Amino acid sequence: MNRRTFLQQAASSAAALSLTACTPRKPILAAAPQAPPLPPYDPVPPIYPIRAHEDRLFRITVCLRPFRPQGPRLDTEQVAGKLVVHNYGHGGSGWSLSWGSSTIAVQKALSNGDRDIAVIGCGALGLTSAILAQRAGARVTIYAKQRPPEVRSARATGSWTPDSRIAFTKDAPPTFAAQWEQMARASWSMYQSYLGLPGNPIEYSDRYVLSGDLGAPIPIPTPQPTSPRPELGFARYEHLIADITPHLEELPPCSHPFPVQHCHRTTSLQFNVADYSRQLLNDFYIAGGKIETVEFHTPSDLITLPQKAIIHCTGYGAKALFNDASIVPVRGQIGWLIPQPEVNYGFYYQQLNILARRDGIVVQSSEQGEASGWNDDNETPDRAESERAVRRLAALYARMKPPVTHA
Ligand SMILES: Cc1cc2nc3c(=O)[nH]c(=O)nc-3n(C[C@H](O)[C@H](O)[C@H](O)COP(=O)(O)OP(=O)(O)OC[C@H]3O[C@@H](n4cnc5c(N)ncnc54)[C@H](O)[C@@H]3O)c2cc1C
Repeated sequence: MNRRTFLQQAASSAAALSLTACTPRKPILAAAPQAPPLPPYDPVPPIYPIRAHEDRLFRITVCLRPFRPQGPRLDTEQVAGKLVVHNYGHGGSGWSLSWGSSTIAVQKALSNGDRDIAVIGCGALGLTSAILAQRAGARVTIYAKQRPPEVRSARATGSWTPDSRIAFTKDAPPTFAAQWEQMARASWSMYQSYLGLPGNPIEYSDRYVLSGDLGAPIPIPTPQPTSPRPELGFARYEHLIADITPHLEELPPCSHPFPVQHCHRTTSLQFNVADYSRQLLNDFYIAGGKIETVEFHTPSDLITLPQKAIIHCTGYGAKALFNDASIVPVRGQIGWLIPQPEVNYGFYYQQLNILARRDGIVVQSSEQGEASGWNDDNETPDRAESERAVRRLAALYARMKPPVTHA
């Protein structure tokens, strides 16, 4: 069962349960089936609380997910005699699918025998396309308006989320599921080669999915939506790769300190984007790559480039540059709390998504669920939204109980 399916089921079943304080070594609900005890070789490690103070918010960022109902664009076209390979429109999955998507794009760009390649864009998709083209023996120049840390990719959560807002079920072509699986598996495999490196660009961390408050639920603020909430039929594909990621396991009630009825645990990849994007830039430069700062206004501007094969990775920028009206911006804001090296986990609680990264603790609140930020291109940070999220986080930690120590 994936996290989203789990959350939907948990939300409905939690409402039916009575709320009882956790008493160590006694079951919370005598009648309810309980998770089996954890084996001694797999205990819950110490869960250090996050110092949830509004004045520890050192940065608030906004990013726009470049969503296309039919999924990312990976076709080719000729522009003034040049081969343009598109590689944009990855919604909330751009980092996760980057290596796999760029593998497809690079194969197409090299198909004419060209070994001098232009990459437009220096975000997740541009950098991975450029590096893969170099590894295939090409000389590569990146042309981009911005580069990390200014690009939108630098403002992502940094989690393995390969089917997050990637397409609508009704609009994705029948071949897309297989292509998605190919991209996800290729990316997953490539990410393993970045583990254990200095700076920890990529690492695994435990994630907890919390449901069913003990005590009165901490209220979720419900600001009035500016427009009616749309019915969004996002496609789900995670089940296609269930064999490569650890599954969710329910933890026994008193094995963890979270003040909730149900706590599930899994382990997933996290991307420490500050270090990871620097590592990608360094890899690109070491292999002889060059970056030029350029802004293109129309496709015909590409005529000026010396290269005949171009991989186009402008993300949300493609909406204006290639007049792609199918792109919908899905706004997402992150409040960044000062990193705490001892905090090395993430969790989902109601509509809070927390991930402790090396470069900051991500506090993300989706107050309108999956419809949050839909068709909203406002990139101005809303400090009040992040402060509300930190206050809910503080309220949760204020109820934390010490876990039963392992004998
Ligand atoms: C809040 C939030 C959280 C997210 N979390 C995750 C996550 O945990 N995991 C995940 O996998 N994905 C996540 N995403 C999605 C991910 O961030 C995007 O899919 C990804 O950043 C898209 O990368 P990109 O390279 O296509 O675009 P960008 O990062 O926007 O890069 C585009 C590049 O093109 C350049 N450019 C644009 N227009 C022009 C132009 N006209 N001329 C020249 N250059 C141009 C830009 O300067 C930039 O260099 C998240 C998104 C948001 C909003």
